[in-house]
Amino acid sequence: MSSIKKRVLITGGAGFIGSHLCDLFIEKGYQVICMDNLITGKIENIKHHLKNESFKFVKHNVSEYIDVKGRIDYIMHFASPASPIDYLKYPIQTLKVGSLGTHNALGLAMAKGARFLLASTSEVYGDPLINPQPESYWGNVNPIGPRGVYDEAKRFAEAITMAYHHYHKLDTKIVRIFNTYGPRMRINDGRAIPNFICQALRGESITIYGSGKQTRSFCYISDLTKGLYKLLMSRENMPVNIGNSDEMSLIGLSRLISNLTDSRSKVIYKSLPIDDPKVRCPDISRAKRILKWHPEIGIEDGLKDTIGFFKRNNAFLG
Ligand code: UDP
Repeated sequence: MSSIKKRVLITGGAGFIGSHLCDLFIEKGYQVICMDNLITGKIENIKHHLKNESFKFVKHNVSEYIDVKGRIDYIMHFASPASPIDYLKYPIQTLKVGSLGTHNALGLAMAKGARFLLASTSEVYGDPLINPQPESYWGNVNPIGPRGVYDEAKRFAEAITMAYHHYHKLDTKIVRIFNTYGPRMRINDGRAIPNFICQALRGESITIYGSGKQTRSFCYISDLTKGLYKLLMSRENMPVNIGNSDEMSLIGLSRLISNLTDSRSKVIYKSLPIDDPKVRCPDISRAKRILKWHPEIGIEDGLKDTIGFFKRNNAFLG
């Protein structure tokens, strides 16, 4: 007797993280509905699934009412511009998808009896005053600064998700995703890793914003998606940080990328964007304890794969 495939809706499924989630669920034998309005996502990221009958792409903006026929077992809500230059370019859409889009996705989860996972972010901690950041930290966010459109949208999204959990008894999960990288990042999304790799491959100057002493902790995409899947399958309803806890400075990152690409690019310093966090590092003890998850891919191996992706796609030229 063949078992019926579980059905998962992935909003933002054509984006960087969303498309890797599509891969993971297809690989695990699910039916996948990938929904995306393609403002920052790309069909290219999911084109290898388009002929698969277990995969369906729906072009739709989830800030508008979401209509899906048939059963849905799980909703992974990943739709949102997510890099600083994207949410600065689309401030209203970012606020709408975090608020109206999350409300619509939660309403759909209620109607279908689906389990719901919200993609939240380390940005809810703002420019943190404690380091590393545990889930119990409330954050230090400027609501009216340029990053406020993303940070506050995600904070609202967390609040409404918890309200659906408490008031409607919906089975919800919240992941706070820290800096993640890997193949399919967009070269022009403005983030440090694609910028540095492409600048190094083109022999252009590597642009460091501020002193370069600010820190981040970079998680490879396959580690992240494994953690997301474990969280979805867990009994946990409170937020869980997923990320890599190996913290490094941006200068350190630029040196590593220069070495791995054999680049002679010089470094140039530019002004630091407003409200750019000075430190960021996840406390992942809850994920380790509750999910039995920890990151496995070191930064060098992950960067080699990512550099390989940019070279193969000649993405650094375009
Ligand atoms: N950054 C940089 N040069 C770049 C792009 C980014 O120095 O070309 C810095 C940015 O100011 C921040 C860090 O790198 O301090 C990480 O930025 P990113 O946009 O990757 O992600 P964020 O953690 O800010 O969301």
